[in-house]
Amino acid sequence: MRPLDPRADHPRTQRTILSGWGSTSPTPATVTSPTSTDELAASLKLADAHSRGLIVRGLGRSYGDPAQNAGGLVVEATAVSGIHNLDLEEGVVTADAGTSLHDLMRWLVPLGWFVPVTPGTRQVTVGGAMASDIHGKNHHRVGSWSDAVRAMTMVTPADGLISVSPESHPDLFWATAGGMGLTGVIVDVTFELTAIQTSYVSVDTDRTPDLDSTLELMESSDDAYDYSVAWVDIMATGRAMGRSILTRGEFAPLEALTSRQRSDPLRFRSGTLATWPSRPTVRLVNPLTMKLFNEAWYRKAPVRQRGHLQTISQFFHPLDMVHDWNRVYGRTGFLQWQCALPLNATDDLRWVIKQLAESGCSSFLNVLKRFGPANPGPLSFPIAGWTLAVDVPAVGVAELGPLLDRLDQRVVEAGGRLYLAKDSRMAPELLPAMYPRLDEWRATRDAADPERVMNSDLARRLNLLG
Ligand SMILES: Cc1cc2nc3c(=O)[nH]c(=O)nc-3n(C[C@H](O)[C@H](O)[C@H](O)COP(=O)(O)OP(=O)(O)OC[C@H]3O[C@@H](n4cnc5c(N)ncnc54)[C@H](O)[C@@H]3O)c2cc1C
Repeated sequence: MRPLDPRADHPRTQRTILSGWGSTSPTPATVTSPTSTDELAASLKLADAHSRGLIVRGLGRSYGDPAQNAGGLVVEATAVSGIHNLDLEEGVVTADAGTSLHDLMRWLVPLGWFVPVTPGTRQVTVGGAMASDIHGKNHHRVGSWSDAVRAMTMVTPADGLISVSPESHPDLFWATAGGMGLTGVIVDVTFELTAIQTSYVSVDTDRTPDLDSTLELMESSDDAYDYSVAWVDIMATGRAMGRSILTRGEFAPLEALTSRQRSDPLRFRSGTLATWPSRPTVRLVNPLTMKLFNEAWYRKAPVRQRGHLQTISQFFHPLDMVHDWNRVYGRTGFLQWQCALPLNATDDLRWVIKQLAESGCSSFLNVLKRFGPANPGPLSFPIAGWTLAVDVPAVGVAELGPLLDRLDQRVVEAGGRLYLAKDSRMAPELLPAMYPRLDEWRATRDAADPERVMNSDLARRLNLLG
């Protein structure tokens, strides 16, 4: 590791205002941008000059404040990008922490390999994927990101540069999976890839008339598919409440392609169609526009369609086609409320959806998934059951705060939790009930960082460090 003088004026250090993807709660920080794994590893030393500590930031796609550190240091890792030790036989790769899933797909899809887990955007880094222990549409099949990780290199304040695997350091490994960057600096990650014959997904679509039929269809036949997700019309009320478009699929075999597609079966098309120009001054996302949008979106979907071929972008990342789409919410921004509920908590899920529907909550990004079993990570979000994610404008929904507080309470009573990578407003008192192994996580974290060098706005807001 190349030593850095903490008092030196780092050439790539500047004061900047940072916020999450939801653009709420911006705060100022000193940002340093290492360009190599050595510099990233050494960045921990720079924290000596900052009493407010340090946090690493990836592509800032968390909705709230986990990659912010008001008045402290933020290490922006996206320039530390690249892959090493690519084993094309076994499908195992080591990627620098700042490598985006977008770049991984650009490089690996043409070689017949896909990332083990992808969220609804490719614009996340490998470090951010590990620190949030992200999940995808295949959680019911393969679990979350960390389940595919064999080892990572990280730097902790207590141990310096170490190689951490589930076998060598089980406590630290699982505390880092979903530990929101608070256990140390992740430098690189070695993980297993998924073999694909083509870059097309064969998609089955079912349009369901209400929540019961959505849940029934997911429970009875999700296991037949590698990937599954439902878009829910969260504004539909009465008998139509919870009506959905369920899309499920798997990577298509070569023989499913047309002869034209077969000429380049692993082509990766990733272009954006447009950039959202600027933040509108009128409120585009409002109950009327969203009700119209949801109605049209629901009606546009086929009632039942089988084997429709979609590209990776169309199936996994449709939002990435519009660059900076979060600007549609204007200057006041938006938040995402994402909960996980146990499988038997369907009455609670129904209650939550009813509350949202009857509140007239303007939302078009409403996603329901069925999770498989949890992994050993004490702060890892997924638990066996249901997860519902809803985007809501931060301003303009009457009584939004009290509504979400009521939902949080019900989620806790049902044995569920909120996703820390999406949260920007929950009450800190609920955290121990949502994450009952919080103390275990804190003990491992404190051992890795006894002086509490790692810190963030999220950690302070939720009293994560205790
Ligand atoms: C449109 C959209 C769709 C999404 N869909 C999903 C989804 O389906 N499933 C899902 O799970 N998530 C989803 N997310 C959330 C996203 O996957 C996570 O927030 C992810 O962590 C973002 O990665 P990032 O690189 O942007 O990290 P940031 O947001 O910059 O940081 C996230 C956390 O990772 C930590 N971190 C980043 N790099 C490092 C490092 N090198 N070392 C230590 N800590 C680090 C940060 O400190 C922070 O705590 C979605 C987000 C968006 C915007």
